[in-house]
Amino acid sequence: MVDPTSDLGEDVTEEDAPRCAVCEEPILKEAGHRVVTWIEEDSVRSAHFCEEACRREWEP
Ligand SMILES: [Zn+2]
Repeated sequence: MVDPTSDLGEDVTEEDAPRCAVCEEPILKEAGHRVVTWIEEDSVRSAHFCEEACRREWEP
């Protein structure tokens, strides 16, 4: 249940946070957060990373 009065960014829990595609840590902080998007079979795919180092390690 999401509290409709909470400010944006304060209601992210481990469960609904995106997970890093490399180390699978839930991404709870914006600092260092990277998102890569691409088109695959006519749909948009995306991958999240907790930091730049993880993004560099990732290979699709
Ligand atoms: Zn990571």
